[in-house]
Amino acid sequence: MTALAAVFGDRPRRDEPLAGHTTLRLGGPAEVWLAVENVDELMTAVTLARQHHVPIFMLGGGANLLISDAGIRGLVIENRANRVEFPSFEKEKRGEVKIIAESGTVLPNLARRCAKRGLSGLEWAVGVPGTIGGAVVNNAGAYGSDIAHNLSRAELLAPTGKRVWQPVEWFEYGYRTSWLKRNSQQSTVNRQLSRGGGRQSAVSGQSEGWIVLQAELHLTPTPAVEVKARMDEFNRRRKATQPPGATIGSMFKNPPGDYAGRLIEAAGLKGCRIGQAQISPLHANFFQNLGGATATEVMGLIQTARETVEARFGVKLELEIEVVGE
Ligand SMILES: Cc1cc2nc3c(=O)[nH]c(=O)nc-3n(C[C@H](O)[C@H](O)[C@H](O)COP(=O)(O)OP(=O)(O)OC[C@H]3O[C@@H](n4cnc5c(N)ncnc54)[C@H](O)[C@@H]3O)c2cc1C
Repeated sequence: MTALAAVFGDRPRRDEPLAGHTTLRLGGPAEVWLAVENVDELMTAVTLARQHHVPIFMLGGGANLLISDAGIRGLVIENRANRVEFPSFEKEKRGEVKIIAESGTVLPNLARRCAKRGLSGLEWAVGVPGTIGGAVVNNAGAYGSDIAHNLSRAELLAPTGKRVWQPVEWFEYGYRTSWLKRNSQQSTVNRQLSRGGGRQSAVSGQSEGWIVLQAELHLTPTPAVEVKARMDEFNRRRKATQPPGATIGSMFKNPPGDYAGRLIEAAGLKGCRIGQAQISPLHANFFQNLGGATATEVMGLIQTARETVEARFGVKLELEIEVVGE
């Protein structure tokens, strides 16, 4: 903390409640929390934490995280590095275009900026909350596309402390997964839940290994009205099918050939509540915080959904979201 304060002044905060930093609006405190505004600050914060053997947790938009009620030990770095380099409009008119976005860039905002410039490729992302960094780790996607389709390469901070650009193939992308994600906490929690371990405490700091600094995306020049029309249509579909407010979703991955939401609904769990946590009555693969819900209540709902769906249909649902914290 002292080393961080020496560089960042009074910006690092102790015991910062993380509920305000996730889309589900719940979660305990970060032992220390710091928001970084650019890649240099991100590098400095990570380097200092590593020098002092402090565990790091990278927080993007908190759109895919269930943070435990006890919170996260160590340093939570909230990534707000959001510089975007577009080529000149002249270059953009000729053939494929490459842009570079820092990893804290908010994905739907970037999608809208690209649409305004007449660049097609990110229309699917307009309703996908979170940052470029989170999307690169999760292979975020929608409507038949995903970040793997757009990514040329990404710059990472390696565990050795070196900055390195890796091509898209390096990420070994699959459905909502990547090499980075498979080697993180998420897979551990899923394995524990699959063994029937019930409510798990997860150890924070899974992002200590590789950190996404920026991403190069390829896009195609297209009349802005066409790009906007596609985005408007995706927005319209999303508003009709997904709940507003404090939510997280998709909670579970779709099992091969089926939909997690369909299975949970068929198991009679749409609208099911534990305390202030609810399986959305609109879309059963989205969970809601009705106001003051706890992570323990959400974990209870996760367990109920998994057990009921497995008992009724013999399908083991695998978490798409990530459970983190003490
Ligand atoms: C209403 C709603 C709708 C959604 N719809 C979709 C959808 O259609 N498709 C879809 O794919 N997802 C969807 N999601 C999930 C979510 O938007 C994605 O998973 C998104 O990519 C998460 O990004 P984030 O920045 O919020 O990551 P976070 O949730 O903050 O973090 C996720 C993981 O990425 C790691 N991470 C984040 N940034 C970095 C970095 N720079 N370097 C290394 N690791 C990092 C974190 O440590 C964590 O392990 C939805 C979520 C909500 C709430």
